[in-house]
Order: sequence, then C-alpha cells, then structure tokens
Amino acid sequence: MAGERAERQRYAQTRARFEELYGTRPEGLWSAPGRVNLIGEHTDYNDGFALPIALPQTTLVAARRRGDDRLRLFSDQAGGEVTELSVPALAPGGVDGWARYPAGAVWALAGAGHRIGGADLYVTSTVPTGAGLSSSAALECAVAVAFDGLYELGLTGPELARLAQRAENGFAGVPCGIMDQMASVCCTAGAALHLDSRSLALQQVPFDLAAHGLTLLVIDTRVQHDLGDGAYAALRAGCERAAALLGLPALRDLAPGDLDDALRTLPAELVPLVRHVVTENARVTEAVAHLRAGDTPALGPLLTAGHASLRDDYGVSCPETDLAVSTAVAGGALGARMTGGGFGGSVIALTPTGLVGEVTGAVDRAFAHAGFRAPVVRGVEAGRGAGRVV
Ligand code: ADP
Ligand code: MG
Repeated sequence: MAGERAERQRYAQTRARFEELYGTRPEGLWSAPGRVNLIGEHTDYNDGFALPIALPQTTLVAARRRGDDRLRLFSDQAGGEVTELSVPALAPGGVDGWARYPAGAVWALAGAGHRIGGADLYVTSTVPTGAGLSSSAALECAVAVAFDGLYELGLTGPELARLAQRAENGFAGVPCGIMDQMASVCCTAGAALHLDSRSLALQQVPFDLAAHGLTLLVIDTRVQHDLGDGAYAALRAGCERAAALLGLPALRDLAPGDLDDALRTLPAELVPLVRHVVTENARVTEAVAHLRAGDTPALGPLLTAGHASLRDDYGVSCPETDLAVSTAVAGGALGARMTGGGFGGSVIALTPTGLVGEVTGAVDRAFAHAGFRAPVVRGVEAGRGAGRVV
C-alpha cells in the first residue's frame, strides 16, 4: 500500500535525521497520534464520558538512552538548537516553550519513581499544532512511550496517559482533563474509544465509516482565540461549584432524569454549564449504542446537537466553528460539531463520501465570503494509539 510505503520512508528519514543530529543511531522509534473527539466535550474533568478516535497524523520520537542524566531535545516543528537539560534538575517553571511538553513527560516519570536516566530525543510530527487536534498530548505521549520502551518500565496505557496528563498540568501549566492523553495512548485502529474519565475504564467501539459510505471530515479553522486558557479554568471551576452545591462528587453523578429538578436549585449562571455536561454525557451513551447497533449515520444529529449545546449553553464555540458547522450541515453533512476545547480549532463533519467535494467547497466559499482565513479540510480514519513503530 502506498500509505504504508510512505510511513516506512518517514521512519527511515526520521532515523537518518536522528543520526545527523546526535552522531549515533536511535535505539527505536515511537509514535503517538493526535485525536478528534466524536462526542463528549468538556466532560472529562467532570468525571464523565467521551468518545475520541486517534488520527492518522502522528508525532514520532526517535530516541536513544544516554549513560548520564542529560536530556537532549530537538523538534522539527520548533526548529532552533538542540535543547539540553538535566533529568534530576527538571522542575515546573524551569523550562520554557515547546520543551515543557517532552521535559514534563520525563519529569512526571521520574517523579513517579520510575528508574530512568538521560536520553537523546528527536521529534517530528504531522499533527497540526494549536488546531485543537491535541498535538501537545501526542508529544507528551510519544515521549512517555519512548521512555517506557527505552527503560523497560512496563507501564499500562492508562498509567502512561496519567503521567502525560501530569506533564501537561504540572509542568506545562495547562489544566487539561485526561481525554486527550487517553485517546493518544489507548485508541485502536478502526475503533472509537468509549472512555470513562473517572475509572479510566475503556471500551473499543467499532467505527467503520467506509461500510456506510461515510467520510469524517476534519475542518481546521486555523484560528485559536486567546480567551481559551482563562475561560477553560473558569468553566472548570463553575462545574466544580455546581457539583458541590448539588452535593455530588462530580457532575457525572447527576442523572439526566434529575436534571430539571437540579437546575431549579442552582444559581442562574451555572444552569447552562450543568445542562451541557449532563446532556453531553447522555449523547455519548446514545452514540455508543448507535455504533454498537451498526447505525453510524445516526451519529450525525447527535454531533449537531452537541455543537448547539457547546455554542448556546457552554459558550465555547466561535464564529469560525459555528460557520463551519452550519455550512457543512447545509451542504449535506449528516452532522457536525466543534471538537476539542473550543474558541477556534477544528470541526468534524460526518459526510456522505459522495458529498465530500461539495461540503468542502461550500465551507471554503463561506469562509472566503466571511473574510476568514482559508480552512484546511482533511478526511480522516480512526488510527491506532501510541506505541513503538520501529
Ligand atoms: P493542541 O494540543 O491542540 O495542538 P496546544 O496549544 O495544547 O494545542 O499545544 C500546542 C503546543 O504544543 C505548541 O505550541 C508546541 O509548544 C507544542 N508542540 C506540539 N507538537 C509539537 C512538536 N511536534 N514539536 C514542538 N512542539 C510541539
Ligand atoms: Mg493541547
């Protein structure tokens, strides 16, 4: 297959580039994918459910152990010089820029007591950065699996995902939930990952688009609005406050049947947040039931309803994502929604394969007409999770 040949070529180039940089061969090559979440957004930090797939776009790490405790890092996407750090000296706040993510993964492993030494790492990625497709998780997870392999740590997928999340929360300073890292590590090809963010129990749900004549389009709006980080923290705090007022450990514990009664007791500003989280968890359950019944097209209306909830109740969409969703649906997509944290990033659109050209053209024209940057549209399939590739 042409795709496989291209991947093998990419691996060979990555190994060659490592050798150029460090003057020695890598011991191996590890990869971790970006992700799109089909449904279940802003639910992970409420102990709820999500349904991501891994993207075919991946971050590759070529790596070799060192006899000392130095950590050397280079990424094609960051450019510049090789960054050199000391593993025992890694501390939150001590590393700037992109290196926070790989250094954070190493810091989290060392902090958990795993016996690791130094390493030389070369990173190269096809996951677009800052597009809501979780290039940050792909980078942390690729480094975590590389160290797991190099130092024979024998960690499980959920253990690796937790450590990668700790890197992002505690070292990179981004208060994300667990979904991105679980998706990057634990997804399998051809399946969506039904994730319980509380227990980290997971189930692989068959996700076969071709059998239904469908294509999943990822529309990268190429905008990321600044309010993202502060707004995310405020939304999280609002959800935690609502759960406390309701006397629940987390909003996941509010059953859909009890929603209306609960909403009557809450301050007005918390009502839309709670309504989003509870209805969104229910949409995940419904989506999983449709997929298990072989009814993939039934996902469409759930996606569009999920977007309306994120736009109207949770307030995390933006003009670009709203326009991509409405245009895709008007053009014949069965359903569409923003994916990821919001305030820009990407939209997914479940599209009959025969209408891909039409939907793509309609979105391009609508963006041009609105004066927005041209979006990038890709068809994707459910790829595999992180692991050693060579
Ligand atoms: P997303 O995870 O949605 O792509 P983030 O803002 O969370 O967006 O993460 C993007 C950041 O992650 C980049 O600005 C960069 O610092 C870092 N990053 C991700 N992938 C790479 C890479 N391949 N090389 C260097 N830095 C990367
Ligand atoms: Mg990220």
